[in-house]
Amino acid sequence: MEMRIVLFGAPGAGKGTQAEQLVEEFGLLHLSTGEVLRKAIREATDLGVKAQAFMDRGDLVPDAVVIGIVKEALGNLPKGKGFVLDGFPRTLNQAEELEGFLRSVGNGITRVISLEVKEEELVNRITARGVSSQAPRVDDKEETIRLRFKAFENQTLPLKRFYADRGLLQEVDGVGSVSSVYQAVRAAATGE
Ligand code: ADP
Repeated sequence: MEMRIVLFGAPGAGKGTQAEQLVEEFGLLHLSTGEVLRKAIREATDLGVKAQAFMDRGDLVPDAVVIGIVKEALGNLPKGKGFVLDGFPRTLNQAEELEGFLRSVGNGITRVISLEVKEEELVNRITARGVSSQAPRVDDKEETIRLRFKAFENQTLPLKRFYADRGLLQEVDGVGSVSSVYQAVRAAATGE
């Protein structure tokens, strides 16, 4: 069964962690636009230079930039290999571009899994991540976290409707141990 999955959720919801579990079990490509952008910043590439100011202040990077990243990565995927997108799409325009691109190669997203976690818990998780990490993210400062939530609410949350209308959306409770959340993610991904 081919899996072309979007993992959806607020900052700190656990998209990256759950994506890794799916990758391990099903051999999917994991594409995290946030990770690609952070790597570009570390390496000071043109992409990194374009993205850094937006990311540091908690804004979304312009659509054209991230859409370029995703098209390149998915365009190079061997035929039949599935993928999990983590942190993309984040705007309606990105979702439409993704749909158009996948349609042009004869496929589409198979499931959108939304990790549901309340805001209070999200702030705790991100703050804890900042304290325990040896290389804390610049955008994990409290005032920047708030801006990232705003961007999520205003620009990203409307995508749930977009995917619900297409019958692709499945909500999963994102609170609990990594493995208990994964059981639900797995069930959603495989359609069990
Ligand atoms: P989180 O979901 O915890 O905010 P990410 O690593 O997914 O972490 O994203 C970090 C930052 O990278 C975002 O705040 C944004 O600036 C940028 N970014 C990542 N993905 C996208 C995207 N699809 N569209 C626009 N900006 C993005």
